[in-house]
Amino acid sequence: MNRLEELRGPMPSHPHDARAIAALAANPGCARRALMDAAGVDKDRVARHLGFPAPFGQSQFAITRGNVFEALVKENGCAELLRLLRELLGLPIAQVGYQDVESVGSHLRHSHTRALIDRAAREDDGTAVFYDHPLFSLEIAGHTSYLEPDVVAFQIGGRFRIVEIKSFGLIDGQAEPEKVAAAARQAAVYVLALRTLMADLGHDPERVSHDVVLVCPENFANRPAAALVDVRKQLAVLKRQLARMTRVDRLLEGLPRDLTFDLVPDPDGVPTRPADELAGALRQVPARYAPDCLSTCDMCMFCRDEARCDGSTDLLGRQIRDQLGGVSRMTEALGLAEGTLEPAEGQEEIARLLRLADRLREEALN
Ligand code: SF4
Repeated sequence: MNRLEELRGPMPSHPHDARAIAALAANPGCARRALMDAAGVDKDRVARHLGFPAPFGQSQFAITRGNVFEALVKENGCAELLRLLRELLGLPIAQVGYQDVESVGSHLRHSHTRALIDRAAREDDGTAVFYDHPLFSLEIAGHTSYLEPDVVAFQIGGRFRIVEIKSFGLIDGQAEPEKVAAAARQAAVYVLALRTLMADLGHDPERVSHDVVLVCPENFANRPAAALVDVRKQLAVLKRQLARMTRVDRLLEGLPRDLTFDLVPDPDGVPTRPADELAGALRQVPARYAPDCLSTCDMCMFCRDEARCDGSTDLLGRQIRDQLGGVSRMTEALGLAEGTLEPAEGQEEIARLLRLADRLREEALN
């Protein structure tokens, strides 16, 4: 058994979906997450067993609303999507072919996706095609993850694009930046998977555009609107993080030989390991909590609690933490601000700024 299997224990490796892979790009500096993902640990299960279930998960209402919107965009062979792409990309064509990859049966979806994309890339006859329900794959630290996008890969003139359909609203052409960022990270996973497939088939991966088409409902109505989103930055982070996971040996260095995240399940799969013991094991792997974790990682409530108990400046968000330049504890920041703590070597400037901020605050309050 290799070290990662020992870390996971006897549970089967937890497959990564696009959301989980996208979250790697949301917090690339976290060793705890990288190690749990590389080992295929079911983070949701671990968080529940620790008593810190993640707060996210869509309501049934939101899921139904999302499904209705997606069906609307895709109905009649993606007629509405074609209208949007005509406006957005200035498509010079009247008709677009439509292939429902799922029509061959779910067990053949992956190989059928591969064959269709291969044929389109090889023949490159300029025709335009939507591929609905494609099934991509991506290697994550030696395990194959299958990605079932609710998106359609679209190809015209030998260029492929990922279309991401989301049900959050565009109000006067603007959407919430965090939601757009999350959608961009998820779409980047699909771009990477499709580029990997293209390379596997011997085609130029750059034929998959880094501009993805984001489709959302506009102005509280169900009328779809589309925008191009450049995901180059997200792709670069994602590739770096996946490469880091394949070099996971370095993360394992220095950790105790007997460290494990094993839940010690009973014959029915119910975890029996004392939660305190499991929490102790997790704390031996450094985390890098940031408020963004609350929308991206199953471990967020556990890590937030840990950061709170430690008085960590991580709780304030990456921007402020970076501005605090290595001052990692709230008590330390307050001590420097109030002058009760002498700055260590190299902390003089941040101490001066903190004292200034403290003085301004006092003046504002008085
Ligand atoms: S929630 Fe915890 S494990 Fe997950 S990315 Fe954030 S710090 Fe890392």
